[in-house]
Amino acid sequence: MSKRLLFSAALLLTAGAAGAASKLTVVTATQDLAALGREVGGDLVTVGSIAMGYQDPHFVEAKPSFLLKLQKADLLAVVGLQLEIGWLPVLITQSRNAKIQVGAAGYMDMSQYCQILEIPTGQVTRAMGDVHPLGNPHYWLDPDNGRRIAKAFADKFSAMQPASASAFAGRYADFDKRLAAAEKGWEAKMAPYRGRKVITYHRSWPNFCDHFGLVVVDYIEPKPGIPPAPSHTLDLINLMKRDNIKLILVEPYFDLRAPNKIAQDTGGQVAVLLPSVGGVKQVTDYFQLFDYDINLLVTLFEKAK
Ligand SMILES: [Zn+2]
Repeated sequence: MSKRLLFSAALLLTAGAAGAASKLTVVTATQDLAALGREVGGDLVTVGSIAMGYQDPHFVEAKPSFLLKLQKADLLAVVGLQLEIGWLPVLITQSRNAKIQVGAAGYMDMSQYCQILEIPTGQVTRAMGDVHPLGNPHYWLDPDNGRRIAKAFADKFSAMQPASASAFAGRYADFDKRLAAAEKGWEAKMAPYRGRKVITYHRSWPNFCDHFGLVVVDYIEPKPGIPPAPSHTLDLINLMKRDNIKLILVEPYFDLRAPNKIAQDTGGQVAVLLPSVGGVKQVTDYFQLFDYDINLLVTLFEKAK
């Protein structure tokens, strides 16, 4: 072997060793994004999230530990569409980590890669409640958007760590295959209930319901972000009776009094569905999230027969 070849082999070895030592540190706004990051990152990245899946992602109390996480991050992935507007921007600024500031290479807004519903066409005013003016940010609840998020992670990880690009591509391909298989199962379970009308507490479920064929006809919140009001609750009771609607989908962090009362008056069922990975302890990945929600829906649809 020539001296020059030996030299380049040594360089390659050094590069490889350095690559292994400098694992990417990824921080995500939510546990859903963290779960998808882990699917494609595996052992090659370290992923941690800020908000916990049992919390209302619109309102997260900032803690000093969040700043520590952000200070060490190579990459920050957010849901965007103003979901985290109440708590994340100030943390990003305070972290003083140049890598993850908005617009930097280490800042990813996952909404840019996904199909977004409910983008307002007219002017958004305060009178409309807490409307998300850029479109509905609860988009990760469509598995097709989960796939898009995973692909965006794989591409970003590869760009940041080219030595592992083929590993990231391989892990993404494997995830894509497993997700496609799981989707078939979920869709088969939901097939008997396609077209069923439901009420939801907050507008967390348009992507989920679109994908699995449920029709959201109204909300417990009279306007987005506004708590239940007696006159609206009465309207909902009448609507459910008239249209024989049996299911009310509620996020785990909302007060169950209004949904329970409506269910009681209409013979309906309240489904406390999980909008996020980590919503309950045993749901630790993206697949388990849909397994949990779909199994619960099927059980309650059967019960409400
Ligand atoms: Zn929302």
